[in-house]
Amino acid sequence: MSLKVIDTQCPFCSVQCKMQVIEEKSSADARPVYTVVPKPNLASEGRLCMKGMNAYQHVLTGERIRYPLMKKEGQFVRISWEEAYACITSKFNKLRDSYGKDTIGLYGGGSLTNESAYLLGKFARVALKTKYIDYNGRFCMSAAASAGVKVFGIDRGLTNQLADIEYAECIILAGTNIAECQPTLMPYFTRAKEKGASIIAIDPRETGTTRIADLHLRVKPGMDATLANGMLKVLVEEGLIDQTFVNRLTVGFDELRTHLEEFDLAEIAELSGVPAEKIRQAALAYGKAATGMVFTARGVEQQTDGHMAVRNFLNLVLLTGKIGKQGCGYGAITGQGNGQGGREHGQKADQLPGYRLIENPEDRAYVAGVWGIDPSELPGKGVSAYEIMQNIHEQEIRALFVMGSNPLVSNPNANFVKEGLKKLDFLVVADFLMSETAQLADLILPVTAYLENGGTLTNLEGRVLLREAGMPAPGEAKHDWQILCELAEKLSRGSFFNFTEVEDIFNELRLASRGGTADYYGITYERLREEEGVYWPCPELDHPGEKRLFASAFPMPGGRALLTTVENHLPKERVSDEFPLYLTTGRVLTHYLTGVQTRKSHSLVARDVESFMEIHPKTAKKYRIEDATLVKLESRRGIIYVRSRFSSDIREDTVFVPMHWGDSQNVNKLTLDELDPTCRMPGFKVCALKVSPLVSE
Ligand code: SF4
Repeated sequence: MSLKVIDTQCPFCSVQCKMQVIEEKSSADARPVYTVVPKPNLASEGRLCMKGMNAYQHVLTGERIRYPLMKKEGQFVRISWEEAYACITSKFNKLRDSYGKDTIGLYGGGSLTNESAYLLGKFARVALKTKYIDYNGRFCMSAAASAGVKVFGIDRGLTNQLADIEYAECIILAGTNIAECQPTLMPYFTRAKEKGASIIAIDPRETGTTRIADLHLRVKPGMDATLANGMLKVLVEEGLIDQTFVNRLTVGFDELRTHLEEFDLAEIAELSGVPAEKIRQAALAYGKAATGMVFTARGVEQQTDGHMAVRNFLNLVLLTGKIGKQGCGYGAITGQGNGQGGREHGQKADQLPGYRLIENPEDRAYVAGVWGIDPSELPGKGVSAYEIMQNIHEQEIRALFVMGSNPLVSNPNANFVKEGLKKLDFLVVADFLMSETAQLADLILPVTAYLENGGTLTNLEGRVLLREAGMPAPGEAKHDWQILCELAEKLSRGSFFNFTEVEDIFNELRLASRGGTADYYGITYERLREEEGVYWPCPELDHPGEKRLFASAFPMPGGRALLTTVENHLPKERVSDEFPLYLTTGRVLTHYLTGVQTRKSHSLVARDVESFMEIHPKTAKKYRIEDATLVKLESRRGIIYVRSRFSSDIREDTVFVPMHWGDSQNVNKLTLDELDPTCRMPGFKVCALKVSPLVSE
């Protein structure tokens, strides 16, 4: 009998729970049997959720892409790597000669390792010299990230450690369903509750998370910023402000106070759908508590006012001075496995590694120096993920290289996106499973999965973790960073991509990030092997890493954070006689992102094999819908068909559909493609909808 133990971490969310995958064979020829066991560690404290327990199944599926595939007469046929590279370089070179270097776009992902994310950004700017690169994290973290930078001067998911949560006397969970999306974090909150903390949940639905709350504010979809205005008004009127903190460490208080005077709590209650008394109760609980934390996630952020909505929740933190000390702080609960690291190293349209800005001359000069190029060679700022899709329609972008993402299912207005992808002269997808986007590709490059590919990931706390490779690549699959290096060589830019080990890439990333906001310079693979992760910023080798930010000041002019006046924004799309219900979207316990990986896990699929529409029984009756029957959902942009699921957990004016399925169940065929003016986040969380039973057709 042979036994192989792989030490790894779950790829399916930002907690990055440590685990062991144990491969057992009774004889050399026997089929291996796999067992997953949680591994003690500081973030997940030795817990794993259902996704983690089954996270090996999609890697071992027989449906892995093992060889480069080229589409010929509508069918994918196996080709060699040499043929694949020759095809890519020939297409890219011809398109660049005809239309210029910006005709090629790159589209990355927040599940890529830090090294791959870094290299993809460098590949775009140095090998292809295109300005068009962005990634699916635009749909995940852009609102919270841009708000954090604007208000605090820095964007780190949690301003403090998870370990601080149990010391909070009041916790606000706004638009976050931790019980389903990051289940292993739940004990942090239940522990705080056992110690006497009050928990306030803000969500249009009752969920596993809201059930632990003392107070649940069932906000109307899209009205979170307005609700926060109501809470801020109560805090000011009741004198629950930490005036010393506000005077010493913030700017903008007088403007905010005057702005809040204009609001009427009864009107805010009407707009937000939350009774005024409950708004008061929430504000008093948070304001009177000696310590407290505020968390936001996609419910607040995936809105056309997501940036300002988050800033209004940061106002709560700053007015009460609940930051920079034990049991106090703010957290954006990142969704993707490397949602934090994925946005720090340059795969965003406006950023260079270390959270440097591509439009800042000093930042450009520094990174160009690390890369060995002249700053004038660096392209300028590109556009956001959905705007890449719009540019494809306008044929400004004619070739797209997708790595670690499934944009056809994750973008809003999916029918429009599909038309665009079909218009491309050349679509290359690097993936290890046949995603909906890969099916449209001209060329597919097989990549390794997390058990086979080493590298670092940064969890939601800003803690950098090393994941070692534990299995050989199947077939001819290569690591995504290897593909980028080899392609750069074929494009005559190989001297800038001379990496033979993933650690070499990390060491260059450390240099590129040095002195930036997300400074990784002091973090090495050696340290990561010895320590249980290291927090950034970590500017020197002997620096312990910052576990808690803003203890004495903010990295802002004068050390002061910025208070913001926020208007009562209404959703861009309102209900009407034709589209009388609100649609809101989200996630379920068993699936991850667009479901490409988790839909290949038989244990997870056994729990949730198809999408569904959660609808209140009273609403269902009004529209002649029976429970567990197929229904037609229609918005101004498309139609999908899913099964109904009755639940009184949802508001009567709203239905909920998860985002993990494609094709006729792809909820993003319905969602709105209006973008937040600052962070370019689409308004996934609210659009107008009509529902009808399928049988009437
Ligand atoms: Fe942990 Fe998240 Fe994986 Fe669940 S999905 S095991 S919470 S990393």
